[in-house]
Amino acid sequence: MADEIEGANVLAQALKAQGVEYMFGIVGIPVIEVAYAAQAHGIKYIGMRNEQAASYAASAIGYMTGRPAVCLVVSGPGLIHALAGMANAQVNCWPLIVIGGSSEQHQEGMGAFQEYPQVELCRPYCKYSARPSKVERIPFYIEKAVRHSIYGRPGVSYIDLAGDMVTQKVNVANLSPNVKCLDPPKTLADPDKIKEAIDLIHYAEKPLVIVGKGAAYAKAENSVKRFIESTRFPFLPTPMGKGVLPDDHNLCVSPARSKALQEADVILLLGARLNWILHFGLPPRFNPKVKVIQVDICVEEMNNNVQNAVSLVGDMDAVMTQMNDQLDKIPGHFQFNPKSPWWRTLNNKVQQNQKAVQAMMDDKSEPLNYYAAYSEIQKFLPKDCIIVSEGANTMDISRTMVPNYLPRHRLDAGSFGTMGVGLGFAVAAGIWCKDHAPGKRVISIQGDSAFGFSGMEIETICRYKLPVTLMIINNGGIYAGVPEDVWKSLQAEDLTLMSPPTALMAAARYEKMIEAFGGRGFCARKCEEINKYLTEITKDEERVALLNILISPMSSRKTQDFDWLTKSKM
Ligand code: ADP
Ligand code: MG
Repeated sequence: MADEIEGANVLAQALKAQGVEYMFGIVGIPVIEVAYAAQAHGIKYIGMRNEQAASYAASAIGYMTGRPAVCLVVSGPGLIHALAGMANAQVNCWPLIVIGGSSEQHQEGMGAFQEYPQVELCRPYCKYSARPSKVERIPFYIEKAVRHSIYGRPGVSYIDLAGDMVTQKVNVANLSPNVKCLDPPKTLADPDKIKEAIDLIHYAEKPLVIVGKGAAYAKAENSVKRFIESTRFPFLPTPMGKGVLPDDHNLCVSPARSKALQEADVILLLGARLNWILHFGLPPRFNPKVKVIQVDICVEEMNNNVQNAVSLVGDMDAVMTQMNDQLDKIPGHFQFNPKSPWWRTLNNKVQQNQKAVQAMMDDKSEPLNYYAAYSEIQKFLPKDCIIVSEGANTMDISRTMVPNYLPRHRLDAGSFGTMGVGLGFAVAAGIWCKDHAPGKRVISIQGDSAFGFSGMEIETICRYKLPVTLMIINNGGIYAGVPEDVWKSLQAEDLTLMSPPTALMAAARYEKMIEAFGGRGFCARKCEEINKYLTEITKDEERVALLNILISPMSSRKTQDFDWLTKSKM
């Protein structure tokens, strides 16, 4: 009958009405029809190889665009795999909608195929977890799922879809309406608190702005830039805050990170939490007397670990616009003195640290160290590329060696420290570039261990011909890899059950894998080889390429001033 519609189509129509553009997933019983329906309604469906990577991919779209993508999974085990991406998105404060098929309602409790208490299971991983009460109400639930994912602090929504609902037909006239969830209303900070904040920064002798990925997510780059450039305060991005202002900005003090954190007397904290990434804001890594001005959309985040001097609750862009307006009201332009002792201290430290890194970049002895490898890679990074970065040292060192010039252009292990996100992120970024920024490339740089978690997604990347270049910085293991003698012999047989648990196969030829899917694989041991192969890869960007860079398992990070740095992985 013409006025009847199947559950799968009700769902697809509701998602389309919410502006959902992408659905990542793996089909099976009972959600095959859902993927077909999504395609029929103009939602782009990306078939992945593991739900874990699918959930990471969907969450990356949420972060890059501010609107959620969907991860579609089958019941039971499929959903369990996707919990990884839900947790990661929830901890990162990124929007994501997971839709899980589930067993038929009339079989509940009978031990149905893949039956599991899915709504309850997802609740701790979500802001909102629900099963539509009936097919006709699906549009209501989808709008609510979208709203919860992007309003307030962004996060995850889970919608459970019973198998019988997928194929059930209902009368169109009985559907709840598809009301598009508007972008989040912008919230402003208390104007009195804005005045207090501006008063406070006037007296700062050692001010510092920390730019977090919340500022990136909020698309606050213009207002943040205006604030930093008009005050001429030094700033420091967090790993994914990189690019809100370009890394080569003359006010960026990343190379003097430790010094800046340790001595700053007033810190303006923009969309970054004082969690492990920022050493909890506590001594000895922070000045015990530091006055924090925190800007965040989440009121519960205020005063966490450190009591703020001023709390500014609101949308980053709106609040920074308030701050700029308040600055404009002050007679005589306020600007922090570039000749101040603080700037001198920071500049000295920047130069000193840059020299130390330069020495390692110049050390081209083989097997290569990380810095030498990165110094070669740097030459081939387009300024507008999206960087995917993960691994232990590979990622940590990339923070300093791989510059970002644009906001939301770095995707890494994030607040949850999740290894294995890389290829899912690369798929998402690749598909987004292909659709919205033709010519833009994704450069994924992973450790060999990190690559292993979702290595099969290279098939997905090749299948969709995504504009992705993959690089593996291969040291034969986790952290420092295998011992020197094992590595030197390059014999897999040398690894035994008594080898270090950090050891993986030495000099594994991961580039061979991509050839199975029509991609191009290269293996480099020297800087000249990196240069040669990246030149080749750059010439023919139509085909996906993987460059496997074999480096020394003994290579590690620059010696740090604080030994707890290495212990805490920061
Ligand atoms: P980082 O990893 O860069 O330190 P975090 O993930 O720790 O960043 O912190 C990001 C913060 O940004 C979260 O506390 C989150 O509530 C906040 N946030 C998210 N969206 C907005 C927004 N639109 N305006 C202000 N703050 C936001
Ligand atoms: Mg490794």
